[in-house]
Amino acid sequence: MVFENVLVVDPVDGEYAGIVEVTRGFISGVRRRAGCPDCELLLLPGFVDLHTHGSKGVDSLSMDEKGLKKWEEFLYSQGVTYFLPTTMSAQPESLISSAKVVERYLESNSLTSVGGIHYEGPYLSLRRKGAQNPSLIREIDLQEVDSTLNGTIKLLTMAPELRGFREAAALIQRRGITLSIGHTDASYDDMMKAYKYGCKRVTHFPNGMNTLHHRDPGCVGAVFSEDFSVEMIIDGVHSLPSFVKMVFRIKGSERIMIVTDTISAAGMDDGEYELGGLKVILKDGRPTLEDGTIAATVVLFSEAVRNFKTFTDCSHKDLARVSSYNALRSISIEDRGRIAPGYIADFVILDRELGIVETVLAGKTVYKK
Ligand code: FE
Repeated sequence: MVFENVLVVDPVDGEYAGIVEVTRGFISGVRRRAGCPDCELLLLPGFVDLHTHGSKGVDSLSMDEKGLKKWEEFLYSQGVTYFLPTTMSAQPESLISSAKVVERYLESNSLTSVGGIHYEGPYLSLRRKGAQNPSLIREIDLQEVDSTLNGTIKLLTMAPELRGFREAAALIQRRGITLSIGHTDASYDDMMKAYKYGCKRVTHFPNGMNTLHHRDPGCVGAVFSEDFSVEMIIDGVHSLPSFVKMVFRIKGSERIMIVTDTISAAGMDDGEYELGGLKVILKDGRPTLEDGTIAATVVLFSEAVRNFKTFTDCSHKDLARVSSYNALRSISIEDRGRIAPGYIADFVILDRELGIVETVLAGKTVYKK
């Protein structure tokens, strides 16, 4: 398989006109061409969404394998070649049951963009619950943590100010799972301690956390002072475009990861949906709880990528970092996310307006406009 006359965009080497060759699912060659006046298409590493609760009517806590397939296929149309179904705070049985669905799915599908599962909660701050169900948020229970971890869990969001965080963090990290800090009312010092324990990733910054004050720098101050990497929801609502631009200027393209945080209503019409046991009303494309709290998003990944470019005026190389490379590295995945020989051939091909033209998973076209 050969992709000719494309503008190759690599998160490390940058952009250049070139030809990409694929053999048995891997990139076998990348050649540069002198100039490319007819380069209408961009070839980037496939998009990566490590924080999504659902799409197309499918929800991570109630899905079966058929639903997961539907979700995956929908994400191909968005250029996504790797994602983690993400659970809300739930009882241990529900978490384990979702993890088992993912486990069976991975066993029966050798070619898949499902990478594992992300537990967002349940060990979070009640004060910073956002759209999480307060009756399911709880204190850290080490035995319970241990019993809910299986081989498919790649990422776990937790609040670092909770009692027992240090022990839980050590247990989780020993299992090779990445910890992300989120839904937290941590002080600046709590954040610094967590950073020292190796927790350097932050969930949907700066949503679900206390904010910056010059005499109380809090979570946001800590994130700006240390090399934390941050997920961001780029829908223009969770953070205004000017805030996204500011974060981009402070953290740079090396430390931002686009996530959608979509719920099952993504890709669906206005109506009533469910999120972690709470009713969500989708009206004019805006999902809220009954009390008006913003409830995640229905922004699609490709829209978020276009938004990021518009909000920050970043380069294509930056875009390849924030849409794929950084997220993969944050969960220690090293064999994809680049357009270079030896990497898995996961691509997204875009037009000049950043519309999705084709999605390629391990060398196989899984979506074509
Ligand atoms: Fe959240």
